[in-house]
Amino acid sequence: MEVLTDLPYRFEAEQVLSRAKAKQKKQHLETVEKLLEQVDGILSPRVLYRTAYIDQKKEKALVIEGLTFTSRILRVNLDPVERVFPYIITCGEAFERFAASREDLLETYFLDEIGNLALGRVQEAFLGFLKDKYLLEEVGRMSPGSLEDWPLEEQRPLFALFGGGRVKELLGVELNEQLMMHPQKSLSGMAFASKTGFKSCRLCPRESCPGRRAPYDEAMLQRYLS
Ligand code: SF4
Repeated sequence: MEVLTDLPYRFEAEQVLSRAKAKQKKQHLETVEKLLEQVDGILSPRVLYRTAYIDQKKEKALVIEGLTFTSRILRVNLDPVERVFPYIITCGEAFERFAASREDLLETYFLDEIGNLALGRVQEAFLGFLKDKYLLEEVGRMSPGSLEDWPLEEQRPLFALFGGGRVKELLGVELNEQLMMHPQKSLSGMAFASKTGFKSCRLCPRESCPGRRAPYDEAMLQRYLS
C-alpha cells in the first residue's frame, strides 16, 4: 500500500474556463487565475493504491483477496489478468474547506471545475506511473458508480481492500452512508493491464458529460453484456 503525493496535475486558467464551458472567457480569466493562485499550496492531490490479486472469476463477479466484486463488465475486463491496482485519489481536506468557504457562486463553480480537472490530471498521471513501474503496455480503469453494471455499492469492497478505516488514516478520505466520499473531490477505481486502455466512458451513454474521455459505443456495451 502506497501514498503518492507528487504526481503532476498543474493546468492553466484557460483550461478551467474551457472545461466550465464559460462564455466571455476574457471576463472570467482574472477570477480563475486568482483562484489558482489561492489554491496553490492548498490543493494537494494524493493517491492511495495497492496491488491485489484475483482469487476467483465467476460469470458476473470476481473474488479479489476474499472480497466479492459484482460486475459483468469488470469481470470481462479482468479476464486476461490476475493482478489489479485499486486506488483512491483526493484533492484533500484543505481544498474542500477553501471551496466551501467561498460565498460567490461563480467562484464556487470554478473551484468545482478546478477540483475535477486536478482529479482527472492526477488520475492520468497515476495510470502513467503504473505503466512505468509495472511495465504495462496500457492501463484500463473502472470506477464504482460510473456504470449501471458496477454500482456505487461496490465502494464497500473497494475500500475494504485497503482495510476500510485505514483509508481515512492514510489519505483522509471516508465513505458516508450514501457511499459518497468525503472530501467530495475524491475518486476511486480499479486499474488493470488492458491492451486497449479500457475507459468506462466507452460504455456510458450519459450525454453532455464534461469528463468524457472516449465516445460511447453501444455495440461494444452489448458485446460486454452478452
Ligand atoms: S461519460 Fe462521464 S459519467 Fe460516463 S463514465 Fe465517462 S466520465 Fe463518467
